[in-house]
Amino acid sequence: MIYRSTRNREETAEASQAILRGLAENGGLFVPDEIPALDVSLEDLAKMDYREVAYSVMKLMLTDFTEEELKYCINSAYDSKFDVPDIVPVVKHHDAHYIELFHGKTIAFKDMALSILPYLLTTSAKKNNIKNDIVILTATSGDTGKAALAGFADVPGTRIAVFYPKNGVSPVQEKQMVTEKGKNTFVAGITGNFDDAQTGVKNIFQDKELAAYLDEKGFQFSSANSINIGRLVPQIVYYVYSYTRLVKDGVITAGDKVNVVVPTGNFGNILAAYYASLMGLPVNKFICASNDNKVLYDFFKTGVYDKNREFILTSSPSMDILISSNLERLIYHIAGDDSAKNAALMKSLNETGRYDITDDMKAKLDKFYGGYATEDEVADQIRLVYNEDGYIMDTHTAVASRVYDKYKEETGDNTVTLIASTASPYKFTRSVLTAIDPAYDEKGDFELVDELEKLSGVKVPNAVEEIRSAEILHKTVCDKEDMEKVVRGFLGV
Ligand SMILES: *Cc1c(COP(=O)(O)O)cnc(C)c1O
Repeated sequence: MIYRSTRNREETAEASQAILRGLAENGGLFVPDEIPALDVSLEDLAKMDYREVAYSVMKLMLTDFTEEELKYCINSAYDSKFDVPDIVPVVKHHDAHYIELFHGKTIAFKDMALSILPYLLTTSAKKNNIKNDIVILTATSGDTGKAALAGFADVPGTRIAVFYPKNGVSPVQEKQMVTEKGKNTFVAGITGNFDDAQTGVKNIFQDKELAAYLDEKGFQFSSANSINIGRLVPQIVYYVYSYTRLVKDGVITAGDKVNVVVPTGNFGNILAAYYASLMGLPVNKFICASNDNKVLYDFFKTGVYDKNREFILTSSPSMDILISSNLERLIYHIAGDDSAKNAALMKSLNETGRYDITDDMKAKLDKFYGGYATEDEVADQIRLVYNEDGYIMDTHTAVASRVYDKYKEETGDNTVTLIASTASPYKFTRSVLTAIDPAYDEKGDFELVDELEKLSGVKVPNAVEEIRSAEILHKTVCDKEDMEKVVRGFLGV
């Protein structure tokens, strides 16, 4: 199986090379040339545990990995780092099945891919005879940074540098990052917003002179960003896994279609669900849930993608995004895997901030439904579900939950539904608790943690417990112009 660039079909890579490179030339993304079909029945998958399902799915997409290599990566990633033995619990509340993707080290769904990416990347480096240390550069709006730090901490042959907007992340998110103990890690706040951090990282990546200099010193850059197929492929697994849990529990019969609802930002998570369906998972609708930054809702309604609008800060910050990078992969596929057509649309996005797809392309999106939830609706939903049976969801998951309610009201569709639950409520305690009762706003950040434990009956996760009194180890704050300088300082070159 080979991967091709969405902007130039002739540019190809094997899986391990695509993982090492992250991005193709000229901003293209690597996509599988053909999507392989699952070669184990859904009934048999229902008898497997998470690691076994992961192997059955990932071996089809990462064909240049040996069985031994891939099993080593999977078994190293999905182990007791997760606080539940089944890795991804599927729980029923408010008439839907929530796929709890937040039981990893940093209590957000990013852990699902970032706990395996370091193993995939170092294995890829070995396969391709890379002798340099791999330096991961990451800009984060909050969740990716800590998940990448936790994944790469003390992994031999790697270093990781994370940049976050000094005043743009939640208190728990910041504390998680600046207390990171890994010896090969570096964290800096920048005096700017997330876009500044992201642009700074991209500039460092594109500096060919710097790359040549670092190569001499034994380093090369790579990306832990969600455009890396090393993040996308592991995300396919939990859709197959959660579907087959419903089969195992007798909720559905193998072959029945289900709806999948995903709270969406960069379009990586929902794209993984789409790939799962192309591999044979029976899906009725992909329900793409947005917050007030509803570019995708408008896109699915009109066929026009238009990022020229106000950027709104919401209580679901990991979905505050106006350019959903991974949507490019879907655009490429609905254009008939036509890289020239896709490249033209992306050029238009780059130059004018918008593009318009043809009616033919739009027709191929009939399985997608776009919805959105406002800030008031998100808070109402958290309170509503809590009052029903005591289940407390985070703000991102609440966006999905509300959009699903609206979908049912609009369509009357009562197909069995899976909802991706992307973060623990402990990561966004203030928004979650004040949704239930505004009086909580009086309290301090860690008092709220204890209140949430009392209210939910769910033990404070380790990820939060360990930062209460943790020492702050990373104190660098820099201007966006100085990012390259601090990276050099970190590497000592
Ligand atoms: C990253 C993130 C999302 C959005 O996922 P995409 O793959 O970018 O669409 C949703 N919820 C949480 C909690 C996240 O961290």
